[in-house]
This record gives sequence, structure tokens and C-alpha cells, in this order.
Amino acid sequence: MQTSFTPAQLADPHVAESEKILRKCVHCGFCTATCPTYVTLGNELDSPRGRIYLIKDMLENGRPADKEIVTHIDRCLSCLACMTTCPSGVNYMHLVDHARAHIQETYERPMLDRLTRAMLAFVLPYPTRFRAALKLAKLGKPFIGLFEKLPALKPLAAMLKLAPASIPAASPMAAPGVHAGQGAKKGRVAILTGCAQSVLDPAINDTTISLLTRLGVEVVVPPGEGCCGALVHHMGREEAALASARQNVDAWMRAIDQGGLDAIIITASGCGTTIKDYGFMLRLDPAYADKAARVSALAKDITEYLAAFDMPEPVRKPGTVVAYHSACSMQHGQKITRQPKELLAKAGFIVREPREGHLCCGSAGTYNILQSEISAKLRDRKVKNIEATGASIVATGNIGCITQIASAASMPVVHTIKLLDWAYGGPKPDGVRDESLIAAE
Ligand code: SF4
Ligand code: SF4
Repeated sequence: MQTSFTPAQLADPHVAESEKILRKCVHCGFCTATCPTYVTLGNELDSPRGRIYLIKDMLENGRPADKEIVTHIDRCLSCLACMTTCPSGVNYMHLVDHARAHIQETYERPMLDRLTRAMLAFVLPYPTRFRAALKLAKLGKPFIGLFEKLPALKPLAAMLKLAPASIPAASPMAAPGVHAGQGAKKGRVAILTGCAQSVLDPAINDTTISLLTRLGVEVVVPPGEGCCGALVHHMGREEAALASARQNVDAWMRAIDQGGLDAIIITASGCGTTIKDYGFMLRLDPAYADKAARVSALAKDITEYLAAFDMPEPVRKPGTVVAYHSACSMQHGQKITRQPKELLAKAGFIVREPREGHLCCGSAGTYNILQSEISAKLRDRKVKNIEATGASIVATGNIGCITQIASAASMPVVHTIKLLDWAYGGPKPDGVRDESLIAAE
């Protein structure tokens, strides 16, 4: 694609980066076929190619964002299916990140939208605040129907609907410290405790620590870790996202200095995509660029780490039929596709893949709150495809997808690590049927 930026515009490194990306696009439109919003809405401006044209026009003309571009960029899930499909290697992720930051700087949203976004940015990345908000949400649940009737309050209704009926207690295992591996030492890793996941399902990281330590891996929970920054990054709040990234880089560099790390283990693929991008996000900061690149190189999804680990034979072969839902951040963001399925199959599960596996479930960070109608359509389509597999359980590697799919599915939805842990001697996850036992009865 031809571009016409001036030398003065290209002196801005963000514009220069976007120009490089834009020039790669050959406007072939292959990406439209796999874009969930184009598939759902059928509007070219809600396709990757349409958004690329809108962003190009805005940046080339040095214009502030307007209502039209905000509408279509807000509808983008950042699922990155377009990047998987694109034959020209267009880095849509970095382009849309730049567009979102430009929107945040130049566009004044309506007041309620501003307040909702400010509230999400204030609450979600902080476990203590999020826990308190979930407790408050119980009081608001009776008003969901009322809020749904008022367009400006739909995000509030969506939030209340997603809030779980009960909140698990905080886990002592998430406190800073070191969990020693059992037997001969096979490795040393740090684990990201994260934000929303540690409140909604602390057992995911507890289970990960338990399995890794049984395998002989020392697991460090470094002091000073926090939210990865993805939630605010996707809202265009660049400074807040970079502050989170720097805080985590500092925490992990201290852990590296104190005993080395083989990997930084991440159990939420949405966070993994962002942490693997820290090297890019902090490339212009001379104090952090090298350290951030090192951290990004060490970041591994738990299934990526276990797939490269010399795993023993499983303790039991459950025989349970599992529908594996590959989160967009897993398959498109991190290109991890085969490892989770192979690990599950090796552990004795029968793995089925739902149709249209490339399409997003509609969770996408805060998307299911801010774009609840499109999100619900994508969720229902996903659940239909999952249920058609005949599986009795869904496995996935991202807390956002777990919450989203569980809100409509008739079967339990669990993190992949819980099934692996069970097969390797851990407790049976709640709600899961042991098909091998049933067959024996
Ligand atoms: S597939 Fe790639 S090159 Fe083709 S229109 Fe989409 S982004 Fe551009
Ligand atoms: S990130 Fe997803 S929703 Fe956004 S343009 Fe690409 S495919 Fe479409």
C-alpha cells in the first residue's frame, strides 16, 4: 500500500512504525474472511482491511480521531485472527495499538463511556479493588434488567452479568516467595500471579505451582509483580500499560539476578501475548529496552513450557472427551496451537476441536463489557460449535474465555492446566466426569 507521510510525521517513531506496517498491506482482503466482526456485521469498515484504511487516513492526515473511526476500532476485538491469515505479514496488532493510543489522546468520548473506561482501568488490574467490586456487584444484580434497557448503562449490565455468584478466597500460594521443587531440581521459573485471574480463579496458579513443583521445578513468585498491562493497553492507555510493564520487568530482573530463571510462566494467554510484546512496547526507553526484550524472550505459556519439558507418564488416563478452545491470544497472539492439544492427548484425554476454532469467543479483555451485543453473538456461536463436539468439558488457557464461555455453556469450562494436573496425580477438577471410572462401573 502506498503511503504519503511527510518527513516531519515520520520523525515520530510511532508513526514511522505504523507506516512500515501500512506499506506491507496489499489490500488483498484475505483477512476479512476470518475477522469475527466482519463475519458478524458484514461491514467492510468492521474488517481488518477497512480498519487499516481508516487508521491510514487518520494518521496520514494527522487528524484527531472522530466518531466513525472510534466506532470501528472499538468494535475490533484485537483477536489477531487477521494476523494469522495475512499472507503479507501485516502487524495489525502494533497498528491498532497505535490507533488506540491516538484515539485516547485526541478523542473525547461521551461522559458515561469515559467513566466506564476509567472505572475499568481503576478496578480490574488491582486484585484488592476487583475483589471488592465483585462483592458490590452482588447488590447490583437485581437491577440488570433495568440497566439493559438504557443503552448508556449496557456496559454496567454486562459487568453485573459476568460477576460470579461467589468469589473464591485469595490464595496464600500467590504471596511472594519460593516454592521448592520436589526431588532432583529440573528448573527454576517465575510465575505471573496477574490480576483478574488471581481473583476469579486462584486455583489456576495454585495448580500450576503444584504440578511444576511435583515435576522438580522451583517456582518463584517475585515480589512487586502486578497486572501485565494488557487491559489498559487495549484501551489505549499507553502510559499506564508501560508503567505496568516496567514494574514487572523490574520484578523479574531481580528474580533473574537472585538465582536465574529458565522461564517466566504465564497461565493466561492474554497476558502472555502482551508480555511477549514488552520488548517492542519498551523499545524506545533506553533504561528498559534490553531488559524488556530479555523478559519477553523468557515468557512462556505454561503449555509451551510443559511441551518442551521431559514429562513423565501420567498417573491416570482419564479418557474424558475434551473440547479444546484455543484462545485467540494463544493461537493468533502467541502462535501456540499444537502444544496444549498434544499435552492433553498424551495425558489420556480425547481431544476434540470445535468448528470455526479461529473465531473469537467474544471475551477479549473488556470487550464483553464494552461491546456486549457483538460479544454475546460471538459467544453463542462459539458455544454452539463447542457443544456440537459432544465433549463433556471444555479446556482453554485464558481466564477471559473461561468466564465468557461458562456464562452460556452447558458443560464445565476449565483451564487446561487443571486437567493436566489431574492426569499427573493432582485432584480431579470440580464438575469433571472421570470417563475411565464410569466405564469401569
Ligand atoms: S490479508 Fe494482509 S495484506 Fe491482505 S488486506 Fe488483510 S492485512 Fe492487508
Ligand atoms: S483483530 Fe480480530 S476483530 Fe480486529 S480486525 Fe483483526 S480479525 Fe478483526
